[in-house]
Amino acid sequence: MRIVRRSTVFTTTVLAVVIGGGVSVMGAQVWPTTGAWGGLVPAGGILLWGLRGALRRWRVARRPIPPHWRSWLQSHVPLYSRLDNDAARRFERDLQFAMDEYSFEGVQGVEATDALRLSVAAGIATLLHGRPDWELPGSRSVLFYPDRFDDEYYGGGPGAAYDGMAHQQGPIILTAASAEHSWARPDDGDNVVLHELAHLFDFDNEGADGVPSLVAPESAGKWQALVRTEMKRVRRGQSILRPYAAEAPSEFFAVAVEVFFEQPHRMADRHEDLFEALVAFFQLDPRTGRQTQEPEAQPDEHQAGSAT
Ligand SMILES: [Zn+2]
Repeated sequence: MRIVRRSTVFTTTVLAVVIGGGVSVMGAQVWPTTGAWGGLVPAGGILLWGLRGALRRWRVARRPIPPHWRSWLQSHVPLYSRLDNDAARRFERDLQFAMDEYSFEGVQGVEATDALRLSVAAGIATLLHGRPDWELPGSRSVLFYPDRFDDEYYGGGPGAAYDGMAHQQGPIILTAASAEHSWARPDDGDNVVLHELAHLFDFDNEGADGVPSLVAPESAGKWQALVRTEMKRVRRGQSILRPYAAEAPSEFFAVAVEVFFEQPHRMADRHEDLFEALVAFFQLDPRTGRQTQEPEAQPDEHQAGSAT
């Protein structure tokens, strides 16, 4: 996550110059001596408005991270403990941005504690760590439910089977227990937070088809072929991914992301092609915490409108 994106600076500056310049030209025609200065007001306003997100991030990045947040990361997020100092500071900064910019709300008596909020923010920082130019697509609202819920979001009934749900437009919903368990055993291959956040990459595409929207279009065919092959392995019981991964390509991707970050050695051994594809996608080797390379293309080319 960047404090400011080049595309934002460019768009805002062009807008300020065009509109401010236009006002200056008109002002100079009406009041030849002072009218040209009138363009500074709209230009300044546009710059402030366009860069307000960057200013906010700049202020957040200057705050020291609370010590109990750092201890929580050390005890819950294996990727964080593998990072060198610079990378760890960047991870913490992404965590701070997520804690600041996402809205977290507990429903039906659940309190959105720091631990619950950190569990989601750590997931965001994890998914974006290898791709500093990316933002997570989709909603920035997170709801914590007390119990499992059904399709209609009612808890406690016979059909209440969901621990989490992500929507194309609506909030991310997680049960408080699933958010806590996601990081309580961070190597069991089961992480509802990472699962639901991974869906956001997919929703941003044309429907949830298992090919994340940020995959370069020329690689989409290869991704689909890989997903088909790996889903067959799940159905045959030859995969380390749990059976739910065979429900749909979108579920395959979300489950694969959980295992990629929680059991990277096992995935690299048993599903080398899938592991390499995910390393290329996230540009991160979760076994070492190292970025594999700098992004080869401007991410804005593939990203649909979630940036601040
Ligand atoms: Zn899912």
